[in-house]
Amino acid sequence: MKKLTLGQVRFLMAVSAALSLVLLPVSSALNSTALMYAGLGSFVFSAVVWFCFYRCPHCGKRLKQSSSRTCPYCGKHL
Ligand SMILES: [Zn+2]
Repeated sequence: MKKLTLGQVRFLMAVSAALSLVLLPVSSALNSTALMYAGLGSFVFSAVVWFCFYRCPHCGKRLKQSSSRTCPYCGKHL
């Protein structure tokens, strides 16, 4: 599997989180189970992407702050 850059990981997380934020209220408004599952799926997807890929590319430790520009563990630029 091709390694994702941190920018691509951030993009995937932002898109899937935004998708779930849109789909969940829309699904309850339309009373649509399919949309609800799609929203839940994208929410889980963003959590999985965060859990698996949101790491420092230099030391491999998991990053907590989504906005930091340097790694809190090794101090290198992200
Ligand atoms: Zn690091």
